[in-house]
Parts: sequence; structure tokens; C-alpha cells
Amino acid sequence: MTGGQTAIVAGGGIAGLASAVALAQAGWRVTVLERAPAFAEVGAGLGFTANGMAALRALGIEEAVRAAGHLAPHAGYQDRGGRWLVRLPETGPVPRTVMTICGIHRQQLHAALRQAAEDIGAELVTGAEVTAVRSGSVRSGVPSDNVRSADPAGDPAAVTWRTSTGEHTGEADLVVAADGVRSTVRTQLFPDARVRYAGSTSWRAVVRDCAFEGRLIEVWGPGTEFGALRISADEVYWYGEFVHAEAAHFADELATAEAHFAGWAPWVRAMVAGTAASQLMRHDVYHLPGGCPRYVRGRVVITGDAAHAMLPTIGQGAATALEDGVCVGRMIAAPVSDGGDMAGALAAFDRARRRRCGQLARQANLVARLGFELGDGWRQPVRNTLLRLIPTGPALRAGARIASWTPPEQPARSAQE
Ligand SMILES: Cc1cc2nc3c(=O)[nH]c(=O)nc-3n(C[C@H](O)[C@H](O)[C@H](O)COP(=O)(O)OP(=O)(O)OC[C@H]3O[C@@H](n4cnc5c(N)ncnc54)[C@H](O)[C@@H]3O)c2cc1C
Repeated sequence: MTGGQTAIVAGGGIAGLASAVALAQAGWRVTVLERAPAFAEVGAGLGFTANGMAALRALGIEEAVRAAGHLAPHAGYQDRGGRWLVRLPETGPVPRTVMTICGIHRQQLHAALRQAAEDIGAELVTGAEVTAVRSGSVRSGVPSDNVRSADPAGDPAAVTWRTSTGEHTGEADLVVAADGVRSTVRTQLFPDARVRYAGSTSWRAVVRDCAFEGRLIEVWGPGTEFGALRISADEVYWYGEFVHAEAAHFADELATAEAHFAGWAPWVRAMVAGTAASQLMRHDVYHLPGGCPRYVRGRVVITGDAAHAMLPTIGQGAATALEDGVCVGRMIAAPVSDGGDMAGALAAFDRARRRRCGQLARQANLVARLGFELGDGWRQPVRNTLLRLIPTGPALRAGARIASWTPPEQPARSAQE
């Protein structure tokens, strides 16, 4: 390895910590700047399909996440009365492992990522808000070793951040923007890529429950999607996303949720009724229609929700943030450590990740139209009848296409170090 390359990561969420681990695995010195005063994740649960698990394996934390979470197959989709619309088979041509979901509390996932980043030597700085970025430049065909003294390789990128002690600026061979859907970095480099309200808001809760069977069940009713899955031996995560005006205020969230799901299947009502007011949170849902036009500018690479915030309907936002992190390490950092051309590595990342995440975002939009965005009246019975008639094969194959992603190969020399 040539060694000595540096990276600054803006944002210490899922994409930022995954990128930090993958960069350090390739031998880079990494600093993560997180705006929040502590590296802590609130939130509720998450479900990972096999692609997310493959990314966690590449980062060395699959076992930790499996141990903290709960693995179970995706059961399928029901109508609001609890009747099956699509029941995913236990056996068949698509391997069951591809349709298996690992449910985990976001706090547990975040803790595993943070531990891995610390163990591998990444510097994690809290209370550091990135305020500006200079993208730098990278010239094609020039090995990118030691850019600061080797001007032919281009100019380094630079980041400015604010802490309680004042303003700071640092240069790096690579800057990773992982600062979420409202990314400061993306806004500066791609001001035309605008975040949009998805038209829906989402309740989420983690409840103590040992009775719920544990497999992910998704339920579609008028303008609403409900889903639940087990995330540990005694915890179940449920979410209820529904079409509503932005920035709504409900005097009593729990009473509103109970009223919203009043006519739904008994198991759905029981789960909402078993939720304490303190366990219930609600967030408006935002996305980045069409994604960021490019995921790379100069020496800045844009990842996670900053690059491709998608609708949560296929549960792939966090998984693709992990995939991005692994690809930053394996498609950019490792080849450059081995003396490769940085411009080529950045271009390859941009192509591969925009293609993958663009496809998933379009799939998420399609599922939204078929699912929670569909209004009441004739639409519901028509959709439900069609879904019951259609064989499960196409749904399974679509799921398998998402889940069968595997990490790029680690370049041979980096893998031996
Ligand atoms: C209702 C709902 C359900 C979901 N369910 C799933 C699911 O089941 N499975 C799944 O895979 N995905 C799911 N997602 C999507 C997933 O939560 C996101 O895609 C994922 O959190 C994105 O990770 P990220 O690291 O890119 O961004 P974030 O998690 O938003 O992290 C960004 C980090 O950057 C920090 N930051 C922001 N600005 C700055 C700045 N200027 N300087 C320094 N730091 C900064 C923030 O404090 C934060 O720590 C869901 C989303 C929603 C809304």
C-alpha cells in the first residue's frame, strides 16, 4: 500500500460510520465530524435484507448485529382486515435466505458501527457541524498518493466545521458527505437537488412483546401502510405511515393513532393499544426525487440519504447507506491505497452507485403508489383482488434482485495487509 491518505467524513450516522470503517480497513486515516453533541441514535427499529447483511459482513459487524437483532423471513402483505394479499412462500425457487429480514433496534446498529469505527482507529468528533466544503480536484491517470505535495494529482478537498471552540478547516484526499437528507455538503455542491415532502408522516414505536410471531408483516389500507417485525427476543418494532399534510400537530398522538387504526385487523389494533405514549414517535417523511444528479464532485463523494434519500416503502435507505460505505472503501480507498487512479475510482463509484440506488428509489416509488398512497373507495378492492390473483413469483424475484447485492471484491493487495 502507498499509505498516508486521509479522509474527512461529514456526518456520523449509518452512512458516515460505515464509510469510516471501510476507509480505515483500506488503511486511510479518517476523521468523522458529527453535528450532534454525542454519537447516539434515537429512532426505532430497522429491517435489513440480505444486501444490508452482506454490507455488515464486509464491515466486520454482521455477527454483532445478528446477536443483537432478530432474523425471520418476510411473511408478506395483508389488507387492513388482516387477510393476506401476498403470502410469501416458505419454500420455492427463491432461496429463503434472500427474503430473510434482520430486525434490529437503530441504537444497537449504531452502537455496533461506532464500536467498529473506534476499534479500527477512526477519529470520531462530536459537536462538530460541517458548514462549508471545497471539492478540490483530481486529475485522471495520476496515482493519487500524497496529494498535498504532488500537485499533478490535483488539489485536496477541504472542510470547514464549527465547534464550541470556534471554526476549523481541514484538508483531505477525500471528503465523504454522509450528512443525511438535508445535507449541507450536497446543498453547496448541487443546489438544484431539492428535498421534497413525501406527502406522508410515520408513527414508529418499539414495544415489549413476546407474543407477536416475529416475521415482517406489512398491511395496506387506504392512504396508509402498517408494518411490524421483531427486533429482539422481547421487542417488536411497528410503523404506521399515512398520507397527511406536512408538519401536522396532534394533541394526543396515541389517541390519534388508535383512532386511525380503529377498523383494522385485531393484531394491528392490539399492537397500537399496547404502545405507551412515551414509546410513540412520529416524523414527516422526506425524500430526494431523482437523487443527487452525481454522487461525486472533485474529491467529494456523496453517500446515504444525502445522495439518494428514498421512500421507506421497500426498507432500503439504511441498507444502501451501508452499501455506499463499503463501496467507498472497496471501490475508492483500497484501489487508491494500491496506487490506482483516483479519478477512475471515483467515476466507477459514481456510475455503480447511481445505477443501483436509482433503481431502488424507483422501485420504492412504485410500491408507494401500489401501497400507502392508494386512496379509499373502489381502488382498494381492485388492488387487493389483483394482488391475490397475481402469482408471488414476480414479487419474490423483485425482492431477490434487491437483496442479492454483494460487496465489490477487496483488491488483492489491500486484502492481504
Ligand atoms: C419511517 C422510516 C422508516 C425507515 N425504515 C427503514 C428500514 O426498515 N430499513 C432501512 O434500510 N431504512 C429505513 N429507513 C431509511 C433510513 O432510516 C435512512 O435511509 C438512513 O438513516 C440514512 O442514513 P444516513 O447515514 O445517510 O443519514 P442519517 O441517518 O440521517 O445520518 C446523518 C448524520 O449526519 C449528521 N449531520 C447532519 N448534518 C450535519 C452537518 N452539517 N455536520 C455534521 N453532521 C451532520 C446527523 O446528525 C446524523 O447523525 C426508514 C426511514 C423512515 C423515514
